[in-house]
Amino acid sequence: MSAASVLAGHGLRPVLVDEGADVGGQIWRKPSAHFAPDHRAVLGAGAAAAHAAFAAIAGRLEHRPRTLAWNVFGGEVFLAEGSRISALGYDALLLATGATDRLMPIPGWTMPGVFTLGGAQTLLKDQGATIGRRVVFAGASPLLYLAALQYRAAGVTVAAVLDTTPLAAKRAALPALARTAPRLLARGLAMMARLRLAGVPVHHGVEELAVEGGDWAEAVRFRAAGAAHRIGCDAVALGFGLRPETQLADLAGVSLRFDPALRQWFPETDGDGRCGAGLYAAGDGALTGGAEAAEASGRLAAWAILRDLGHTVPETECAALRGTVARHSAFQRGLARAFAWPAPWAPRLAPDTMLCRCEGVTIGALREAVGAPLGPREINRAKAITRCGMGRCQGRFCGAAAAEVIASTLGLDAEAAGRLRGQAPVKPIPLDAALAEESAA
Ligand SMILES: Cc1cc2nc3c(=O)[nH]c(=O)nc-3n(C[C@H](O)[C@H](O)[C@H](O)COP(=O)(O)OP(=O)(O)OC[C@H]3O[C@@H](n4cnc5c(N)ncnc54)[C@H](O)[C@@H]3O)c2cc1C
Repeated sequence: MSAASVLAGHGLRPVLVDEGADVGGQIWRKPSAHFAPDHRAVLGAGAAAAHAAFAAIAGRLEHRPRTLAWNVFGGEVFLAEGSRISALGYDALLLATGATDRLMPIPGWTMPGVFTLGGAQTLLKDQGATIGRRVVFAGASPLLYLAALQYRAAGVTVAAVLDTTPLAAKRAALPALARTAPRLLARGLAMMARLRLAGVPVHHGVEELAVEGGDWAEAVRFRAAGAAHRIGCDAVALGFGLRPETQLADLAGVSLRFDPALRQWFPETDGDGRCGAGLYAAGDGALTGGAEAAEASGRLAAWAILRDLGHTVPETECAALRGTVARHSAFQRGLARAFAWPAPWAPRLAPDTMLCRCEGVTIGALREAVGAPLGPREINRAKAITRCGMGRCQGRFCGAAAAEVIASTLGLDAEAAGRLRGQAPVKPIPLDAALAEESAA
């Protein structure tokens, strides 16, 4: 949205392709018209301002909602709008594909009633619906606290917030967080305090987390501060931070680099978003820096596009935007310590824990495959042999954990275990669209 507004402001007519039903992305998601909850209460006032800013430029761009970009190849981006497919040539392609939840599997995570944290929040934002009446929020993410407060405001009982990172890690990260984005830190601390004041049980350093139930989630059990706990609930929201959506960038030929601190792969950019001839990346899909970094990096990439097309750009604004992006990226690094991805869990998880829910591959099956004589030593070969990551989600939900399982089984570092290569279509497209594409080829 921010890149499009810069481009439109300079007389270009950008095409904004979004598989979402309306503008807003994750943070400024517009509630569906039929289900709209009280907009301000759930989304905050910023959403209305963002929507108004976009409405002001809507006539100066081509907005294609409900349209999936499913491949980038040969200088064209391939789109599916329902079952209508088309190819769009471009002078410049800005990939701002955002992020999705990063998951570490736990026993019971595929049970009905267990949702990803982002999914639980999306339901509330989009449809005014909640995942249950008595909900446990578990994982490692600042979003745990925000989503728990939003659920409380919607009348839901928050049974507990189970944070898998110890308090000591948060204390250690405080100075860096205070230096880089004190306002965001203050907001986060205030959210934690509000939950405590409301009497919501909050546990830190949670280990051995598991969901219990039969046909539906009924309780979570875990250890914290040396004691075993069991908390009844009717739904669980589970999330361990975000992972960037890089599959289109990968298909476009962008180099991806491994960030050892965040233990994730990101498109390699020049800092202003350039990542190949006519290719640019911004937002969570490029740096998972949060909403303010997404907005700044979108503007910066738009200025890079304009500069590359021969326009004069405002150097002072660009320098300020680079500063904003750098500050928020540093803040995210602090958050990655305060809300750590639980890589050390990978070797400890029970072998019958489901890893790839699309293809029904357990952690034990992947360990067995990679531990076999002459077994695969990298994630794409492991996928070919076990089908882990080969299903409907294309490894979005299991890929990060699968890499940790491979690394821990073989004694490799996570980078050596590799990343799942992007495959077209990046998400399922209707069969009639796929058949039409095939007969045209
Ligand atoms: C589920 C979730 C909830 C979040 N909640 C909060 C929150 O409450 N508060 C907060 O501060 N931060 C939140 N964040 C983080 C924050 O939303 C992001 O930092 C910010 O929205 C990033 O902006 P973006 O434009 O990079 O990506 P997004 O806002 O995620 O936008 C990406 C857009 O790309 C579209 N897209 C992706 N792939 C394709 C494709 N192949 N074809 C077509 N369109 C595509 C999506 O539909 C989406 O509109 C959340 C993140 C997630 C994933």
